[in-house]
Amino acid sequence: MKSQSESTPKKMYWSDNVRGTRQCPDCQTALVPKCHSYLMVLRHGESMDSRIVGSGGGHFCTACPVVVLDRARFDDYAATTRAARTASDYVVLGLVDLSAVPEDKRHLPFDEVNNPLPLVMFTNLHQSLETRRS
Ligand SMILES: [Zn+2]
Repeated sequence: MKSQSESTPKKMYWSDNVRGTRQCPDCQTALVPKCHSYLMVLRHGESMDSRIVGSGGGHFCTACPVVVLDRARFDDYAATTRAARTASDYVVLGLVDLSAVPEDKRHLPFDEVNNPLPLVMFTNLHQSLETRRS
């Protein structure tokens, strides 16, 4: 069994859209919970606010690039980062591979030019946004 690299683009499922966090919905392999960071975008009416959240809540397939996110855990992350409860909704865009950040830059804020966020976007993001809306 080959382990998936941290930077491999992943297909994301919400735990409440599949049969929980125990089995991969694509290949039925047992999922493994792993600590990771994620980029969450919260919507406050017209404005957006992005946060890095983690580290629990992700259940990874060891056989294919699938991650199942625990909806309850991410609802908690959204609730605790929600400024004055003004955010109406949130999306999780992908995995943040913090290990890809050079050590001498880890204390710096992310910046498009000098210290880009090592975001690994979910490959089925569009699809998951559709699911969320329905
Ligand atoms: Zn799988």
